[in-house]
Amino acid sequence: MGTNDGISPEFSRGEKDVPDPSLGIPADAAEDVIISIDHITKVFSNHQTVTAVSDVSFNVRRGEIFGLLGPNGAGKSTLIRILTTLMKPTSGTAHVGSFRIIEDDEKVRGIIGVCPQNSTLDLELTAYDNLDFYGRLLDVDEDLLDKRIWELLGMAGLSDRAYATAGTFSGGMRRKLEIVRAFLHHPLILFLDEPTIGLDPDARREVWRQISLLNTEQTTIILTTHYMDEAEKLCDRIAFMDRGRLITLDTPENLKKAMPGGDLLEIGIDGPAGPALPLLQRYTSINRVEVKDSLLVISSNQGNSVLPQILNDLESLSMRVTSISIRSPSLEDVFIYLTGKGLEESVPGEIRAKGGH
Ligand code: ADP
Repeated sequence: MGTNDGISPEFSRGEKDVPDPSLGIPADAAEDVIISIDHITKVFSNHQTVTAVSDVSFNVRRGEIFGLLGPNGAGKSTLIRILTTLMKPTSGTAHVGSFRIIEDDEKVRGIIGVCPQNSTLDLELTAYDNLDFYGRLLDVDEDLLDKRIWELLGMAGLSDRAYATAGTFSGGMRRKLEIVRAFLHHPLILFLDEPTIGLDPDARREVWRQISLLNTEQTTIILTTHYMDEAEKLCDRIAFMDRGRLITLDTPENLKKAMPGGDLLEIGIDGPAGPALPLLQRYTSINRVEVKDSLLVISSNQGNSVLPQILNDLESLSMRVTSISIRSPSLEDVFIYLTGKGLEESVPGEIRAKGGH
């Protein structure tokens, strides 16, 4: 057994109904809250003052995959560094499990696993030795370490490469090894900072599968990403951050439902689409119609049910339909709606010249 409070290699996620404060689970946790963030602000004061995180408060529930989504410079990594005790906030506080991030930092470190953005694997060591070395650093019980390493190599699909050096691995394999490494000591909470940055689409999908698999052990997973497809695919709930601030927080479905306009129907016409406008304007379920030459772009809260009626109308006008597509608003649409800009746009935190206003 490790010497750190809160590390218990034998701890099984199956025991989750029996909260134990020594494992960092608050016995009186409301709604199964595992992280509560209370008005955290972080200001960097070098040659200029940057408010990287600005008065952020929210809770993370036990067992969920929680996404922090925002463009580069939004403050995601800074918030993760604070929650993982690598950095102190300028003001505010947070509880991770039942521990306070500033006063109980060592205990917090005992119940979390962290996979940073930049690789920290030793490329000259084998996959097995990378895990073994890290397990010893974490003080995982030697009698349990070997079994756990093989379990994790199996989860990562790397059992047959256990004795190959990490330097011979693809980017995706390295990333998976690094993710399971953070999982060696059965952390209650796993922090992943941009887990698929720089990976090709196949490797990204592999890593997603890996993350979902780890979540089946009921570990809470917090990940930062600026890829909306990643957040949408993996996360139970998503917090949008921009310029250090929390913009909104909800499930991907609810975030999209909150967009006015609903589904987007795109109907291609063999000829000018303008003559259809007067007929379409009769529908109360249609919020907006845009004509782009021979394309009708219609936003409606009931896209599926209104589509057949629109097709009838077009037929009555002898307008031939050449294409139809119907899509829900994406998280990117929601982000643009809320902030006026896309996720790929790099936006620095709030910057002021030192001494300026
Ligand atoms: P994200 O992870 O969303 O890309 P970061 O948390 O890395 O955002 O950065 C938020 C803002 O804080 C950026 O403007 C960044 O330049 C600034 N920043 C981050 N770390 C430091 C630091 N150590 N010193 C000064 N400024 C920093």
